[in-house]
Amino acid sequence: MPELPEVETYRRFLNEVILHQAIVALEVRDAHVLGTPEDVLRENLVGRQVTATRRIGKNCFLELSSGQVLALHFGMSGDVGAYRHDHDAPRFTRVALHLADGLRVAFIDPRKFGRIRLTESVAHYQQAKKLGPDALDVTATQLQQRLSPKKTILKPLLLDQSITAGLGNWIVDEVLFQAKIHPERRANTLVTAEFEALHAAIQLVLTTAISHEATYRHFPASFLIHARGWDESATPGTEKHLFCPKHSKTKIAKSYVGGRATYVCPRCQPEPVKSE
Ligand SMILES: [Zn+2]
Repeated sequence: MPELPEVETYRRFLNEVILHQAIVALEVRDAHVLGTPEDVLRENLVGRQVTATRRIGKNCFLELSSGQVLALHFGMSGDVGAYRHDHDAPRFTRVALHLADGLRVAFIDPRKFGRIRLTESVAHYQQAKKLGPDALDVTATQLQQRLSPKKTILKPLLLDQSITAGLGNWIVDEVLFQAKIHPERRANTLVTAEFEALHAAIQLVLTTAISHEATYRHFPASFLIHARGWDESATPGTEKHLFCPKHSKTKIAKSYVGGRATYVCPRCQPEPVKSE
């Protein structure tokens, strides 16, 4: 699933190929991914330019010269691409914007859970979709203000896009590991230093993931993500990736928290003491 790091990578790509170029045609190959009727989209896109790109959490925005905004959500399997000739269109291209210089920008989505829709502004979309501040912009103080009144466990709160937008399942596990906080701690038990550690870990994990363009096998060996077994290439032919990068004899434990697969180091992230 495209998470914040993937969507930021897509945004940077779009920013490079699409900015300040007239859109000369809208090609819809599968209307299933449209959240706005095709004729309305065409009317608002053709003849216009993209003046800026933005992102909040997993949502990417193309600001149009008309003042309106095209909002892209990538669902389970969305991606972007560019091509020049019809026969070079990437497989599963659902929609393409044809630009004045001949380039075509593809919205690719094999599983079709992604959506393209027109919205009046980024702020309007953010409010309508109840999105909190982007995870890369949120400050330690904001995190503390939003989380410390909550008596529930931390991990589902961090996944809640209305508290902070853009933290997905593996990212939350990595953040909590780097911050040395157990996912089942109650939010109201965290002290200021822990909110600061949480904030620093969010920055570390997201900037690392973006700098590697979300290619997990290139992530540092100090990351927990390798224990998920999505790739073996960090430590080929060994089981090293199943152990804590800081405690080579402690195996990373897998459990389910709020119904989501969760990985922790039992030594780095001590379980909360049951006080009641
Ligand atoms: Zn550890």
